Amino acid sequence: MSNAVTFSAGPHLPDKVTLVEVGPRDGLQGQKKVLSVERRVGLISGLADSGLTRIEAGSFVNPQRIPPMRDTDQVLKRLPGNNAVRYCVLTPNMRGLEDALKSGVKEVAVFTGASETFTQKNIQCSIAESMERFQPVVEKACAEGVLVRGYLSCIMGCPYEGNIDLNQVASLTRDLYQMGCYEVSLGDTIGVGNPIRVRKLIEKITHQLPVEALAAHFHDTYGQAMVNLYAAMESGITVIDSAIAGLGGCPYAKGASGNVATEDVLFMLDGLGIASGVDMEKLLDVNSHICSQNNFPNFSRTARALLAAREK
Ligand code: MG
Repeated sequence: MSNAVTFSAGPHLPDKVTLVEVGPRDGLQGQKKVLSVERRVGLISGLADSGLTRIEAGSFVNPQRIPPMRDTDQVLKRLPGNNAVRYCVLTPNMRGLEDALKSGVKEVAVFTGASETFTQKNIQCSIAESMERFQPVVEKACAEGVLVRGYLSCIMGCPYEGNIDLNQVASLTRDLYQMGCYEVSLGDTIGVGNPIRVRKLIEKITHQLPVEALAAHFHDTYGQAMVNLYAAMESGITVIDSAIAGLGGCPYAKGASGNVATEDVLFMLDGLGIASGVDMEKLLDVNSHICSQNNFPNFSRTARALLAAREK
């Protein structure tokens, strides 16, 4: 099966995109099955070997609440040193940040949502309270020279509130940026966005901050992730979040299937001649290993097609 690059990216598309692999955190945290430290280290190492340079490796949250993320410190400790890769961990509070700092990570992440109801259900506080809560976390991380990524969920729609006001999303994005987040990952948590709304949102946001401060974190629930990512790239976004095998989903967002699959995004980027530095064959090895080892469903259509072609 050939996916040969026959032309270079058009004038409205970037030459290069950075993929942020969120499978080991966003993907695994929603699974019933808890993967051992060894398996998580194996997964992350495989992803790094495939050329991914930014990997979300885990989360310092209450292990009682999110068991798949327990022992994130052990995972980080056992990851092979690789200067080309930057690992990120989720740190919802000061305690999480302290643990993250002890582990020596160079990047942490905080999260909130653009929907009041969703935020209440997800993290049991209002949007304003969540910002207040993690402001000292962001300040301390910045003071320690650690990068902070901000996640903003429900940027297009909410399972409880329906359409979300894009002005509200834009002002929250600006707030996160001004607080010290070097990058804000815009999450279409339930996958209901369309290219026109994506474009409008990015336009509103970039009136106030540089497009380089934005990442697209789209879900493929309604099969719209790829076309929305294309629109995001046309609007100047060059950082895309994705998860191996499309793992993920959110327990608080009913019917929200997983993150867009890394393999599917890579297939599009390769086809468009957009460099990412990621090797599809190596990624397929990771995909088939993680899915068969843990009995995970393979949500990546690209991986299913290419792995089937391998068998022939
Ligand atoms: Mg996600």
